[in-house]
Amino acid sequence: MSDIQFNITPMEVVDRAGWKTTKRSGAKIESKHCPVCNGGSGRDERTFYINASTGTNYSGAWKCLRDGCRASGNFWQLIEMAGMEPKEHTTMTIETPTQPRQAKPIKKNALLAAGEVVWYYTNDRSRRCSR
Ligand SMILES: [Zn+2]
Repeated sequence: MSDIQFNITPMEVVDRAGWKTTKRSGAKIESKHCPVCNGGSGRDERTFYINASTGTNYSGAWKCLRDGCRASGNFWQLIEMAGMEPKEHTTMTIETPTQPRQAKPIKKNALLAAGEVVWYYTNDRSRRCSR
């Protein structure tokens, strides 16, 4: 399991990208234009919304409500769209997987011994003894 923590806020990303906003609150950022479709041919405005919360699972989540676009994504992608490198704005904690235990090589004589045991139970023992 890994956990990504952003050390930048959605608002800071918007500001650094230079996207014009039409509404800002602690919970939501409304961008003038969608960076994906740019508002289409009609240059539609106020269709792009970003979750402005910080430290939640929805931080930086975004979507465009314009028909024909409907793009959506997460904070990581938002940072990429802003022309930044997400890795530079995150701290990632990766749990080191526990090393799998090395399988011990099976000893050859142990295999032979096992074979003898199988022989013992699958063959008529009396025949072996009576020769
Ligand atoms: Zn769009």
